[in-house]
Amino acid sequence: MSANNALHIAVLAGDGIGPEVMAPALDILRKVEVNSDLRFRFTEAPAGANHYRETGKSMPESTVRLCEEADAILLGACGLPSVRYPDNTEIAPQVELRFLFDLYAGVRPARLIPGVPSPIVGADQCGIDMVVIRESTEGLFASMGKGVVTDEDARETLVITRKTSERLFEFSFKLAERRKARGRPGQLTCVDKANVFRAFAFFRKMFDEAARHHPTVKADHLYVDACSLMLVKRPWDFDVMVMENMFGDILSDLAAGLIGGMGMAPSADIGDRYAVFQPCHGTAPDIMGQGKANPTAMILSVAMMLDWLADKHGLENAAEAGERIEQAVDKAYADGIKPFELGGKNGTADIAKAVMAAV
Ligand code: ATP
Repeated sequence: MSANNALHIAVLAGDGIGPEVMAPALDILRKVEVNSDLRFRFTEAPAGANHYRETGKSMPESTVRLCEEADAILLGACGLPSVRYPDNTEIAPQVELRFLFDLYAGVRPARLIPGVPSPIVGADQCGIDMVVIRESTEGLFASMGKGVVTDEDARETLVITRKTSERLFEFSFKLAERRKARGRPGQLTCVDKANVFRAFAFFRKMFDEAARHHPTVKADHLYVDACSLMLVKRPWDFDVMVMENMFGDILSDLAAGLIGGMGMAPSADIGDRYAVFQPCHGTAPDIMGQGKANPTAMILSVAMMLDWLADKHGLENAAEAGERIEQAVDKAYADGIKPFELGGKNGTADIAKAVMAAV
């Protein structure tokens, strides 16, 4: 934090709809400044496919240094299907940041906002309020860029380490405890495939060890296939789930689908010191430049950032501001906002305006 107590936020708007959803999210933070004694200093920096096209790098060294110095990092979305590395993979500084800053806990909340239709029958009555925690630095993604491919076969290696798993589980149990203190069930489910792979049996063993230190949290396990079934049948039974990187990549998108779509799902990639906040969605090239992007996920990611800053620096006013933003989003939907992705007629500007009015 700088001398005048302004929170320094690195802003990486990225590609596609990234800048379109970032702009209203920053407007909301500026409104928070007016209504509270919180102060922000925003520094914008390049990252992503457009930057790669211009310079041959996914992000400059200056962006990495800025992220190091800032109190928190906000990211729109990065990567475009039409811009690729020579090996045909997409430009993904968001994934690089996870490795650079050791952001092992990918936090993906999925809360069904009252009034938003879910594809799941009964969800409007029972509600959905869960968090997928995706380990974000190892698992199958440890092999990123290192896979061995010949004309005959291809190999990618999944990595689970004690060092990362222990921190991941500690983080997950603490989150479940924090949610319990706020009225949620306080339940943590380890999602794995321990019946088939030794790496996941190891993962589960370490989860059970961690569970012994957190007796107030109800700890249980599910195999990832059974978990996928239960998520669709009874999503309201889940509170917090923790899993390997690739499983989390897939199940967090599934969870986003349960609460209306990608535009509704916020996320955070958190480490011991740094954290990046960004919507779960990608750059949505199919709708970019049309004013159709739903900024809700980006706005809710900003609320998560405030909650994290509150916890890190003991700033009660930041926690209150985060809650106020969530409530403003709820009010916008209760008042009838319906984004294009949910079959409605409200684009970025309408949604931003409705949330701004309610903050
Ligand atoms: P990535 O691989 O980078 O995560 P993706 O290819 O999985 O990205 P997205 O860019 O997230 O996909 O888009 C998936 C679908 O969801 C697209 O049809 C897109 O238009 C839609 N979508 C994503 N984000 C939003 C949003 N904020 N508002 C409306 N629709 C969105």
